Amino acid sequence: MPRIDALLRDARLRLPDGVEADLLLAHVLGCSRTWLFTHAQDELDADTSAAFAALLERRERGEPVAYLTGERGFWRFDLQVGPATLIPRAETELLVELALARLPNVGPMRLADLGTGSGAIALALAFERPHAQVIATDMSGEALAIASSNARALSLHNIAFRQGDWFAALTGARFDLIASNPPYIADDDPHLAEGDLRFEPASALSSGIDGLDAIRLITAQAPAHLLPGGWLLIEHGFDQGAQVQALMRAAGLVGVETVRDLELRDRVTLG
Ligand code: GLN
Repeated sequence: MPRIDALLRDARLRLPDGVEADLLLAHVLGCSRTWLFTHAQDELDADTSAAFAALLERRERGEPVAYLTGERGFWRFDLQVGPATLIPRAETELLVELALARLPNVGPMRLADLGTGSGAIALALAFERPHAQVIATDMSGEALAIASSNARALSLHNIAFRQGDWFAALTGARFDLIASNPPYIADDDPHLAEGDLRFEPASALSSGIDGLDAIRLITAQAPAHLLPGGWLLIEHGFDQGAQVQALMRAAGLVGVETVRDLELRDRVTLG
């Protein structure tokens, strides 16, 4: 019977990022990564090592780790994800931080997350601002099922999910803050055929010949859905900052600026 440390040593050599082997084995065993290290000398039974070997093979063929384990860490949570949702990215935590910096710590407020996917942004805002009412929209019913299951798992009751395209699912009410991490990659960008992107929903990734179709629509319609003094925050590609700023100004938004991510690339524009 193979020992945990021997299995992990071999598996780490087969994957580009060693931590992935730990995540996959922890998933098979239903344990934490830390548990693996404190039980490194335990032997695994044949079924468990076969299940791990199967996941390793799927990973070697390119399937994202998050889809193999069904979860991804975002903000303070482990979120359930699936092929119907984008895998939340660390960059999107920047958008959450920028949003929180513009919201009072207490008191009622109305927030919206357009194209919520797994619910990443909406859940983080609802968690950090328990007195806020958060509306999260997505056109994908499958994504909304995952997002609402995440909300239940986190016992967040101040969030409601609506199915529909961008603003179509929001009726009437205006918001103190609207956030979105929409698809922003150009339809013909060769990166769509690489890495995790190959397995993620195209509708969550690409948006027109310049990637800006969704952002054009969101920026044009946002002012009609914002309360006076309200904020719009949009995540976008590293080379789209100037264009998104221009779109926001054309829509009449003020205080427009672009903020860079940890890799010093333009990532979020707000106004
Ligand atoms: N809002 C979700 C996220 O940030 C989904 C984004 C998307 O599918 N484009 O992960």
